[in-house]
Amino acid sequence: MNKNIYLDNNSSTFCDEIVAKEIHRMLIDNGLSNPHASEHSNGWESMEVMDQAKSLIAPNIGALPSEIFFTSGATESNNLAIRGIVESAFLKNDKRKKIITTNIEHKCVLNAMHAMKEKFKLDLVLLKVDEGGLVDSEEFEKHAPDALLASIIHTNNEIGVVQNIEKLGAIASKHDAIFHVDASQGMYSDLDVVDQSIDLLSFSGHKIYAPIGSGVLFINSNLAIKPMSVYSGGSQQDGVRAGTISPVLSYATALALDLLNQKKDNEIKHLNTLRALFIKLLEEKNIRFKINGSMEQRHPGNLNITLLDIESSSSFIYRLQPQLSLSSGSACNSGTIEPSYVLEALGLHSDDIDKSIRVGFGRFNTEEEIIESVDLISKVIK
Ligand code: PLP
Repeated sequence: MNKNIYLDNNSSTFCDEIVAKEIHRMLIDNGLSNPHASEHSNGWESMEVMDQAKSLIAPNIGALPSEIFFTSGATESNNLAIRGIVESAFLKNDKRKKIITTNIEHKCVLNAMHAMKEKFKLDLVLLKVDEGGLVDSEEFEKHAPDALLASIIHTNNEIGVVQNIEKLGAIASKHDAIFHVDASQGMYSDLDVVDQSIDLLSFSGHKIYAPIGSGVLFINSNLAIKPMSVYSGGSQQDGVRAGTISPVLSYATALALDLLNQKKDNEIKHLNTLRALFIKLLEEKNIRFKINGSMEQRHPGNLNITLLDIESSSSFIYRLQPQLSLSSGSACNSGTIEPSYVLEALGLHSDDIDKSIRVGFGRFNTEEEIIESVDLISKVIK
């Protein structure tokens, strides 16, 4: 098999070697056990690792260590935030019956919001985005009074567009709406839960060079309504998230986040360089394309383009296998490929949606790989 070039880093990143070595060391040397086993020293040591992980994450997002909770990934963090808040509010007889989100959220947020709307007969507001992919803050402000919860994606997973979180957070805070942010793709931006008025923040280890299987939920300790556990089980993690959590994966995610923040400025430059080179080479090879979503407010490693001279992105990507990994503009949600509702929300015609691809540049990609990728793409198109 030829060497594969991996340009699907918005889907998942490979584990960084520093993180992988630390995981190996912890598994082999530490003899870590169940961190919730509170009666013996092995359990205490494992809990100490969890505490170190919290202490590493907290300053990177402007939080306190006690406000950090671990999950299996961002899907779980988002569900815990949304379902946990709405269920808690119901138990507290909260009178607010409105919840707000956008029409470009990840499916886990959209489906959780719909489920809560159905279960508690809530009024669900789906904010539309403009053709660049941005939420209109005035539209948000119209709906914010009386809202219980607003859940806004920080950086979109398909088009990489970054919302004005600080502005939206200030509006939510002004109207006392609980503000949840899905930052799974937002970790290249500067995050500060206090300055940005964020009450709940979700992210995932496998988008920041830690292994798949670990997520984080920040919960503002001053919230009057706290998310309740969405599972039946023990009272691990202050009863917020029942179930045994992996100290190794939690620490790996914390380390990965800390590493990312140390490297961030240089890495953003690297990703911008790769993306600009990719675009320049497409132009030089006369490959006709349109960029989807704002380029001004965007994840540095994301590009979403419509390739005008292909028939469909899925057959095009298939023909690039196994040399080049990309993904289509369609979100593969449950094993079936549906047209992308995110591209639809930008106003793209269905023919263009079918011809769109997402290119996700990452830490380990090189300029040589970009040159080779565009060569491969050009051969498949012609
Ligand atoms: N939210 C966004 C914006 C994502 O990009 C993803 C993953 O693709 C998720 C949520 C779900 O994350 P996880 O795969 O960790 O469950």
